[in-house]
This record gives sequence, C-alpha cells and structure tokens, in this order.
Amino acid sequence: MPLNPEHRSGLITQCLSTVRERLSEAAIRYAREPATVRLLAVSKQHSAELIAAAAQAGQRDFGESYLQEALPKIQACKPLGLTWHFIGQVQGNKTRAIAEHFDWVHTVDRDRSAQRLNDQRPDPANPLQVCIQVKLAPEETKGGVDPAQVLPLAQLIITLPRLTLRGLMCIPPPSQLPEHQRRYFAQLATLQKQLNHQLAPSGVHLDTLSMGMSGDYEAAIAEGSTMVRIGTAIFGERR
Ligand SMILES: *Cc1c(COP(=O)(O)O)cnc(C)c1O
Repeated sequence: MPLNPEHRSGLITQCLSTVRERLSEAAIRYAREPATVRLLAVSKQHSAELIAAAAQAGQRDFGESYLQEALPKIQACKPLGLTWHFIGQVQGNKTRAIAEHFDWVHTVDRDRSAQRLNDQRPDPANPLQVCIQVKLAPEETKGGVDPAQVLPLAQLIITLPRLTLRGLMCIPPPSQLPEHQRRYFAQLATLQKQLNHQLAPSGVHLDTLSMGMSGDYEAAIAEGSTMVRIGTAIFGERR
C-alpha cells in the first residue's frame, strides 16, 4: 500500500537527518570538518512534493539526471529558491535547457558540450558551475573523459567566461568492497591535485570533488569528497 503524503514527507525528514549524521560521522572519522562535505539530494524519479518536503527539512541542493523529467519539477519548486545540479549525461541537443535551468553541471565530458553550455548560458553575471566527469574504468555505458584528457578539457573550460570550473566528478563501477571503492576515489583526488598544480599559473583553483553515492559515500569522504550525491538513502528506492 502506498504511503500517504504526510507519512512520506515525515520519512524523508528522518532519512535526511540520518544521512546528515552519517556524513558527519564519516567526516570526523577521517579527520575532516563535516561542513566541508556538501550533501546533494538526488531526486530523480521522485516528485516535486517530495523535493519540497526535503527542502522543508533544510535541504538546498538537488540533483537530477534526466532533463525532461527535471524541468517541470524545477518549475514547480521555483518559489523555494533551490540549487539545481545536472548529473546526467549531457546530450548535445539538451545543452540549452541545461544552461538555462541549472546552477551546476557535474558531467561535462567533451569540448563541444562545454562550448555549447557556455554559449547558451543566459546570464553572464551568473556562470554555470561545472565539474568534469572522469571515466576511471572502461565502462561502455558511462560518460566521462579519460584521465589523460582532463587537462586539455580543463584548459578549454577555464577560457569560457560563462562557465566556472569547480572540479572533478566520477561514478566508479559499483563494488561492495570499501577498499575497491576507495581506490577509484583516491585516483580522482590525485587527478584533482595534479590539475590544481597544472592550473595554478592561470590562477585557477578547483575546490570540488563530486564523488560518493548511497552505497559508497563513506569511502568517498575518506578520500576527500566535497560533494556526495545521495538519492536512495534519502528518498528510498526508485521504481
Ligand atoms: C542516481 C545517481 C546518484 C544517486 O544514487 P543513489 O545510489 O540513489 O544514492 C548519484 N549520482 C549520479 C550521477 C546518479 O545518476
């Protein structure tokens, strides 16, 4: 039997506070300041009502993967003043709507989409915040650039005035083993360090590592994640 709306929003408040607690505990365990790990609530396949319930419980950042699904929810939640993150694959014919309606894009993985997002971003005073998605293991179905292509893509993005390059993002192959999870996250953190070194002469400093989901956020925090993207642990299973 489906839960009634009041019950569901009560559950979300509870799940959010549990997730926040776990994030803090993980941060402290790895000698990090809890406030340096930002929680992105991944609301794909969940309704605007549930997003509003999470907002009511103090959540500000929301992630969506599918543009067509996200747009009406963003519209419905306009009065709440939330921050929207695009975390799905960026298709060439969708860049305009992404550039117009989102605050962040975590999944830039080619020159062409960076260029288009820049050209289509409406307000020059409000640049789109972007991360480069990096592919750390050969997986056909996932987006992301090869580690070797990160520097040239970053060098392009920092020349684009309507984009602000914030950091790197990854979705490693799923694994139950914390040591496997940590190995990928450590790779992304190392890449970011190198990149910061390489970009320092341009005055650019990347401050974001977008890594960690419901099943692996502890490992991600252990390796320096500054933004975890959590869906299931907040909103429950997607259908
Ligand atoms: C769906 C999704 C998430 C959230 O996954 P959960 O396992 O539900 O926490 C995080 N990041 C990306 C890119 C996603 O597509």
